Amino acid sequence: MEVAVLWLPKSELHFRAAEWVRLVDELHQRTQGYHESGAFLLGRISGRRRLVEEIVFYDDLDSAAYDTGVVVMRAASFGPLWDRCRSSGLQVVADVHVHGGSARQSLADKQNPMIAQKRHLAMILPSMARAPIAGDQIGLYEYRGRHRWKSLGHNRLSSHLIIGP
Ligand SMILES: [Zn+2]
Repeated sequence: MEVAVLWLPKSELHFRAAEWVRLVDELHQRTQGYHESGAFLLGRISGRRRLVEEIVFYDDLDSAAYDTGVVVMRAASFGPLWDRCRSSGLQVVADVHVHGGSARQSLADKQNPMIAQKRHLAMILPSMARAPIAGDQIGLYEYRGRHRWKSLGHNRLSSHLIIGP
């Protein structure tokens, strides 16, 4: 008797080292020390591999994105984002935002995926993205639809977040 096996290739989010350093540094600066900040990560997907090529910070799409203290993106911000994807030929491979404390998803994070598409990745950096950040403190979540997520971060992070030269 044959056994059916559902196999999903595991997602890998790849950064060039300089791009990762810039991301963490800018996210921290954009918190101004007291509110969340975040960005869409644009790039290319081939198989399991997602390579980040471009960073689009939320406040560059909507200057009011951080006004409540937590990230709130209005629907109108997405038009310019899709324009950017079209003109660059890139797609949104993940999003990232920072928390003041730990990098666990809040109820709002779970219920409001930035991109409500299965396998979308949402990363959370702890402590206002203040460097240095320990890898096991970083949250990475894969969207599974219907407000369900799979955690790929914390102790699993090294298999999913790859920072290259
Ligand atoms: Zn959050």
